[in-house]
Amino acid sequence: MNAPLGGPTLAQERKLVTSIPGPRSQEWSARKSHAVSDGVSVGLPVYTVAAGGGVIVDADGNSLIDLGSGIAVTGVGNSAPRVVQAVQDAVAQFTHTCFMVTPYDSYVRVAEKLNELTPGEHPKRSALFNSGAEAVENAIKIARQYTKKTAVVAFDHAYHGRTNLTMGLTAKNMPYKSGFGPFASDIYRAQVSYPFRDGALSGAEAAKIAIDQIEKQVGAENLAAIIIEPILGEGGFIVPADGFLNALVDWARDNNVVFIADEVQTGFARTGKMFASEHYGIVPDLITTAKGIAGGLPLSAVTGRQEIMDATHPSGLGGTYGGNPIACAAALATIETYIEEKLDDRAVEIEHTIREHFVRLQDTDARIGDIRGRGAMMAVEFVKEDGITPDPGLTAAIARHSHQNGVVVLTCGTYGNVIRFLPPLSISNALLMEGLDVVAEALSVS
Ligand SMILES: *Cc1c(COP(=O)(O)O)cnc(C)c1O
Repeated sequence: MNAPLGGPTLAQERKLVTSIPGPRSQEWSARKSHAVSDGVSVGLPVYTVAAGGGVIVDADGNSLIDLGSGIAVTGVGNSAPRVVQAVQDAVAQFTHTCFMVTPYDSYVRVAEKLNELTPGEHPKRSALFNSGAEAVENAIKIARQYTKKTAVVAFDHAYHGRTNLTMGLTAKNMPYKSGFGPFASDIYRAQVSYPFRDGALSGAEAAKIAIDQIEKQVGAENLAAIIIEPILGEGGFIVPADGFLNALVDWARDNNVVFIADEVQTGFARTGKMFASEHYGIVPDLITTAKGIAGGLPLSAVTGRQEIMDATHPSGLGGTYGGNPIACAAALATIETYIEEKLDDRAVEIEHTIREHFVRLQDTDARIGDIRGRGAMMAVEFVKEDGITPDPGLTAAIARHSHQNGVVVLTCGTYGNVIRFLPPLSISNALLMEGLDVVAEALSVS
C-alpha cells in the first residue's frame, strides 16, 4: 500500500485499525533503538506516513487527531497547499547558495514581512537562522554588541532551547540540562508572574519582585538583556498577569537593557494575534521567532529595532544554512496563509471551544487546577484533591490514555502536570471536539 498524500484533503477522521502503536510502528521502534541515540526520546511511537488538516496517519493506517502540531509548528496544517506549492517551485530552482555568498530575494522578502508584522512602527531589521535556539543565541549576541554589557536575565519556568547558551537560559533541569554543564556564565534568573502559583500577585507586584531581584543581584549597569516568553511554553503555558511584561519593558527601556520577547512558540497567529506581545500592548526591542514560521520547514529569525540589529560589525552574524531558500519560500506561503485564512480568528474560536470544554468538567472535578492560555495555545494544570499539589502521575495517565485512543496530546510544565493543546489552526471543530472528548474520557478513567 502506498502512503496517502498529506494535506487538508486527507480524510479528517479518527480511525484506529490496530492497537497503538501498531505492528509496523513497533518494527520501526525496534530499528530506532538500534540506530538512534537513546537520548532522543519519542512521546508517541507511531511512525508518521502522512498528515494534514487535523490528523496524522501512521504506518499501520491509523488516523490520529493532532492536538500538538509537532510542538506548535504546523499552525497552517501539515502540507498546507500554498506551502507545498511554494516548496516545490523553490526546490526545483535552486536548493542552496548561502545567503552570505550569493543572496536571493526570498530571504529579503521574509525579513520585510517580519519587520512589517511584528509589533511597533519603528524602523526594523531581521536576520534569519535555522532553529529557535539559534535565534535566541543570536538575539543575545546582538544585545551584547549593542549595549556593550554582558549579563542576561531569564525567568523561572523559562524554555529557550538546548544549545549551551540556551540551556543556561532554560530553567528546568530534567531533562534539558542535567549532566550537560558547565553552562555559559553571566546568566541570572528572576521570578516570573505565575498567577496560579504565586498567590495571584498582580502584574505590577510580580514585576516589582523581579526588578528588585535584578537590581540587587545583577545591576542594570551590567545587564545586556532580559529575555522572556510572553506566554511561557514548555514551563507550563504560564500566562503572566496583566501589567507584568509592561513593567519589565518600561524598566528595560529606562535602563538601556534590551527586552527580548521569545515568541518562538507563541508567534504566528497561535495565540489569536500574530504575536502574543500584542495581547499586552508591549513593543519588544527584539523578537525571536521560529516554530510556526514556515509550515514545518526549519527557519528562525531575530527581528527588532534597526539601531540594535545594526550594531553588529559586518559578518558578525550568519551561518551556512540560515534563511535557506526553500524554508524562506515556505515561510512566505505560510505567512500568507495565516493572513488570508484569518487563522488568528480561528485560534480565538479554538480557545473558546477548549476553555468551555474544561470549564464544564472543572465544575465536578477538583483535579483540574487551572485552565489557561490564549488562542490555540491552551493548557490544563492537574493537581491533587487539595487543589494545588501538582499531579504528574495523573497527567501522564491522561496523555497515555489519549494516545492509545488516537489523540496526540503533549504534556509540559516544570512539575510535569500540564496537558497542553496546540492544535493546527486548520483543524475542524468536529475533530477538535472529538479529541477533547477523548481527553475528558481519559480524565474520567484515570
Ligand atoms: C521550542 C522553543 C525554543 C527552541 O527552539 P528550537 O527550534 O527547538 O531550537 C526556544 N524558545 C521557545 C519559547 C521555544 O518554545
